[in-house]
Amino acid sequence: MQENELTTRQKTRLETKARRKAKLCRVIQLQLMYSKNQSHYLNNLFLEAKWIYNDNLNRLKNKQPLEYKYKTVNVRLRPPTKTEPIIYEEREIKYLSSHMQQAIKEKIEISLKGLKTHKNKGVKVGSLKYKKEQRCIRLKEHNNTYTIDFNKNKLRLQCYKGAFKLRGLNQLKELMDQDLEIASADLIKEGDKFYLNVCTYTNKKQKEVHKEYVSIDFGCSTQLTLDSDVKIEYKAEPSERRKKCCKKVSRTKKGSKNRWKARKNLRKAYKKENNQKKDVQNKVLSLFLKKFNLFIIIQNENIKGWMNQHGKSIQQTGIGSLIKLLKNEPNTNVKVVDRFFPSTKLCPKCGTKNKIPLSQRIYICECGFVDDRDGKSARCIATEGLKNIPLELGKLESMNEVRIILLMEKLNQIPRVKAYKTNRCGLHRINACGVETSTLVDTCVEEASFDVETGSLSSDAMGS
Ligand SMILES: [Zn+2]
Repeated sequence: MQENELTTRQKTRLETKARRKAKLCRVIQLQLMYSKNQSHYLNNLFLEAKWIYNDNLNRLKNKQPLEYKYKTVNVRLRPPTKTEPIIYEEREIKYLSSHMQQAIKEKIEISLKGLKTHKNKGVKVGSLKYKKEQRCIRLKEHNNTYTIDFNKNKLRLQCYKGAFKLRGLNQLKELMDQDLEIASADLIKEGDKFYLNVCTYTNKKQKEVHKEYVSIDFGCSTQLTLDSDVKIEYKAEPSERRKKCCKKVSRTKKGSKNRWKARKNLRKAYKKENNQKKDVQNKVLSLFLKKFNLFIIIQNENIKGWMNQHGKSIQQTGIGSLIKLLKNEPNTNVKVVDRFFPSTKLCPKCGTKNKIPLSQRIYICECGFVDDRDGKSARCIATEGLKNIPLELGKLESMNEVRIILLMEKLNQIPRVKAYKTNRCGLHRINACGVETSTLVDTCVEEASFDVETGSLSSDAMGS
């Protein structure tokens, strides 16, 4: 009997796996709105999750099997002095459903498995550590562990009578017509805010037809340079608030309650900065992909290598996460050129590789080729990327001047983004239409006095 049951369960599991493989997986974040009573419930939920997690680790230590059907749990109390023995107190589990408890147990098992594989590979591994705070609870099944009520915009959780108002549900409603399937979700606690990260599966869209392409070169001072010499800058300077919070943390005593509070505030400040960065990235990408329907060509940059040279300033730009976002796009939208393609060094006219130092913003080759450094490497990436493109995409063209100006206008409407066009050093090629805009800034031409000291340049040239 039991065997039979197991096989049917395995069957359905395989079926869902196969069904979801053909679908597009996306995680959508919703925010929970709550009243005072509800915040009490939520905080207790995460507290109980912590208790159970830590108790399970205790069980691991004592070589007992993991447990997920807690009615009561032993909680370790902080001893008044270090010399006194550890005291445990029995507490009742009121809020956490068995499904949620099971998810905590499974999470530990997954972590152990990961540690084991690392250990087998010869990596030095530690052990799982007790948690001071649990920040994530996995809700395993929609319509069971949790239910999203689309009519009332509300979320219900297992073993809880009330319902939470949800913010951002329109993101899910938009996907309804694409055969939406809602899988598991994570309940997240961040500061005093609670979020629900819902994992969704939707049908893959019909392949989009692009007519134009754009190639992007990433840099440190100007974050993005397009092949059409449009430069896009955005940078989240460390905010005053974050600096203050940093100072406060360093002044408090280790292990004190004030330090805990200060660190909480610091996390909030970081979160705000990150949200701003993400917001810019999402807006720029949606402009490229959705509004302008462009095919994007980028190079897979080695951001870790950049960190050694530029330090933290590269972190503020968030280029790494932008590349990650682009890589996750289906390959009918984005083409990624290999990391080792010498986009900065290569001369497109004669094909030699010249090393140019970072301070030199103009590319000069012995054959007489002169061009803007970033714009040139963007164009090199474009020619390399267009070499082997899937046939069904057809012929791609670069953007024309009118569209570029339109794109720049839209980019400048995004907060914290500055987009402008530079002259191509006024030497190599001249604008086809000769259109000039008021935002046309040319910094490189004035500085360039063309001292053609070519090959004899230092070796710290880098693909930025
Ligand atoms: Zn050359």
